[in-house]
Amino acid sequence: MSADSGRVLPEVTAESQAFWTGGFDGELRITRCQDCRGWIHPPVGACWRCRSRDVEPEVASGRATVASFTVNHHQWLPAFPAPYVIAVVELDEQPDVRLTTYLTGVEVDEVTVGMSVEVVFEEHDDVALPFFRPVAA
Ligand SMILES: [Zn+2]
Repeated sequence: MSADSGRVLPEVTAESQAFWTGGFDGELRITRCQDCRGWIHPPVGACWRCRSRDVEPEVASGRATVASFTVNHHQWLPAFPAPYVIAVVELDEQPDVRLTTYLTGVEVDEVTVGMSVEVVFEEHDDVALPFFRPVAA
């Protein structure tokens, strides 16, 4: 872990590099099995469905649905004033592919399970963090 303007950033590995850097090109890159075509997250080197090792990052739509969320009321880090929303979102491509993320662009009391959201990226030196915001109606 390293710190960049207060945010704790992920450690990029060979398997996760596409996921953490796709946002520099505006792309949400999710690992996908090239045999059964299932999406896989977090990125790993083999498919848990069919055990194939032929997995590669592909560009997902970036659209998702809020499956659950919590509102954080404690200011853990100086750069992140509470309250803020941490959510689990399901990718539109495949609902069992879930990302834990920040929700941005929404008041904490307006978040609902089932809300449609889309990816936005917060760029740092080496990673572009995928966050989600409500889809404009
Ligand atoms: Zn597979």
